Amino acid sequence: MAQQPIVRPSQRVSGLSVEGAFAVLARAEALGGRLTPPDRVVHLEIGQPDFATPPHIVEAGLRALRNGDTRYAPPAGLPALREAIAVHVGARGIRASANRVLVTPGAKTALYCALAAVMNPGDAVLVPDPGFPAYASMVHALGGRTQRYEVDARNGVDVAAVAARITARTRVLVLNAPHNPTGTTISAETAGALAALAERHDLTIVSDEIYSALQFDRRAASPAAHPAGAARTIVVDGFSKAYAMTGWRLGYAILPRDLAHTAEPLATNLFSCTATFVQQAGLAALTGAQTCVAEMREEYALRAHMVAEALNRAPGISCPSPRGAFYAFADVGGLRLSADVLARRLLDESHVALLPGTAFGPGGAGHLRLSFGGSRGDISLGLSRIRAFVTALGNHTPTESTAYAG
Ligand code: PLP
Repeated sequence: MAQQPIVRPSQRVSGLSVEGAFAVLARAEALGGRLTPPDRVVHLEIGQPDFATPPHIVEAGLRALRNGDTRYAPPAGLPALREAIAVHVGARGIRASANRVLVTPGAKTALYCALAAVMNPGDAVLVPDPGFPAYASMVHALGGRTQRYEVDARNGVDVAAVAARITARTRVLVLNAPHNPTGTTISAETAGALAALAERHDLTIVSDEIYSALQFDRRAASPAAHPAGAARTIVVDGFSKAYAMTGWRLGYAILPRDLAHTAEPLATNLFSCTATFVQQAGLAALTGAQTCVAEMREEYALRAHMVAEALNRAPGISCPSPRGAFYAFADVGGLRLSADVLARRLLDESHVALLPGTAFGPGGAGHLRLSFGGSRGDISLGLSRIRAFVTALGNHTPTESTAYAG
């Protein structure tokens, strides 16, 4: 007989989803542990740079630790870091003052603070589909409902498609460009049009710009850089991707003028402050030479090209060239297998870990997401295994009952 729970998890916690990338990583690592070397799992699932954190940043963190920067800092962030962040985002046209910067343990916390700062229970929030799974999960945890708008794997966000989803309950528009999982970007015109749309419908924009430093073709556009968006956009950004600092946990939100006073109570109640020595490392990242970022961006651009080209040569797969971030979003509709089955079989049979597009929402059906955050060697090994798998598959009629329906 099933045991009665003594402690029942809240509806909020029960509604939180786990991230596909972490779940697949755990499965892939368990499988990897059972393989006999030299066979191994190739990891194309997790959005993690293979680069080490640049040495001058590590050194600044160590120096801060040795100097005793191990005590509480001001809740919303070290003044010098808040100032440096305000200057840093100015390069993409966002005008911010230090008192509008909220420093957080990772961009995810900034995202939660941003949504918590503007959402009330019952509010509807527009989220991208496919999109980073934490958006919908956090909106539900905060008592809101989601309205999904399409992000096309090739063309990105269409302003008219977003507009069509707005109802009287809509309060917030979540944007993400460069976009996870499609690698699409938005132009300055689109950012301006989305800001104008938000103004027309009195929406707050939460603009997740965590990949802004990793856009290959031109400077990343932000709705906060437009007159219509400046006073109604919360920019979310961080150090994980641009400076290869995923494990340091350092991010931030730029709050619009009217929300500046929420920075301190949010920080005080949620995390007291972000680790002081980590903030010192972040300060070194922003004030030091940016050549490390440029070098990583160039490498990602090369990998983007390499991945798209190889996938487009594989039978039944087509893949637009990613324009930013480090993800390729491949259309596998030509394979007559659902992307979920394909992802599972690629892991079990070819030992390549990647994610089905549905890990990012129903709009991801028929797609696979490959991260090219890993080394070129791993990427090319993964790509050749994928090609071999789908080539072999082409000679057989698929036996799964879950034939492709995306
Ligand atoms: N936003 C997007 C779109 C992401 O892809 C990620 C990480 O994968 C994050 C936010 C979270 O970043 P952080 O590691 O700084 O919490």
